Amino acid sequence: MKVVSRGADLVGLADKESDPALRIALVPTMGALHDGHLSLLRAARAESDLVVMSVFVNPRQFSSTADLDAYPRDEAGDLAAAESCGVDLVFLPPVEDMYPPGDSTTVSAGPLGAVLEGASRPGHFDGVATVVAKLFNLVEPDIAYFGQKDAQQLAVIRRMVTDLAFDVRIRACPTVRDADGLALSSRNRLLSPQERAEAPALHLALRQGAGVIERGGRVDDAARAMTGVLEGSSLIQVDYARAVDPATFQPAGGAGPLLLAVAARLGRVRLIDNLLLDVDGGRRVPDSRESKQGTAAGH
Ligand code: AMP
Repeated sequence: MKVVSRGADLVGLADKESDPALRIALVPTMGALHDGHLSLLRAARAESDLVVMSVFVNPRQFSSTADLDAYPRDEAGDLAAAESCGVDLVFLPPVEDMYPPGDSTTVSAGPLGAVLEGASRPGHFDGVATVVAKLFNLVEPDIAYFGQKDAQQLAVIRRMVTDLAFDVRIRACPTVRDADGLALSSRNRLLSPQERAEAPALHLALRQGAGVIERGGRVDDAARAMTGVLEGSSLIQVDYARAVDPATFQPAGGAGPLLLAVAARLGRVRLIDNLLLDVDGGRRVPDSRESKQGTAAGH
């Protein structure tokens, strides 16, 4: 496995002239890898010839320096995990390379980046779109892997690929969860034992919301049910609990797929989670691609 830090080291990564069929995969991460990240790496390994993982804690997508400074980092662990998943190349760029002195160009995620997570974290999705566009330009992947765990990020990237005509296929991978339902996140390691014990309430809330919809209830009722579950914990401060259209993140209409999304604070840690409800014969049912520690699990 090669480890590089300069964009220049990525030039001519693959000799597409002599092997036009060669498939390059990119898995962008912010490091502190867990089994959720590893599921993306394994999918990339299985479906591509050359697997590139980037590790970049992108300052432009953090709203506060305190949050950025507290973000977990584990370079040695990340390299070992990447190696175990068969990654070919790890790209670890320094901040000043990704944002050269005087840089002034950003990608705007537009209205999609201004709602829900974007409303709680102004500028977050512009930061995400800018860094991902830059990684696409440097690595020139054929396919890039993102987690359904960050559903709005996925929608922003898909929109950007269409709008800016990137020649990259976007693959969404199911959310990997701990056995008690908590979606794996690098931020989970910042939770106190008491907060960790309460954190599965996010998934519980989503399942309650899904239950309301499955029984034919309205999206407002589902949102109320989710809020009720979250408010049941004295350690949880609810940010939002909504039912939205998974492509636009606008309030969900009557038909089509539906995304239940929650965000909450436990102490200084902010967690998000979501559940995609597919349409099956007109009925909305939880997405069966959800996975528990990498294996398929129903609800
Ligand atoms: P991050 O390092 O948090 O920026 O995440 C890097 C990628 O891993 C993103 O595409 C995330 O959506 C994805 N990811 C994070 N947590 C999970 C999870 N629990 N299951 C699946 N994918 C995840």
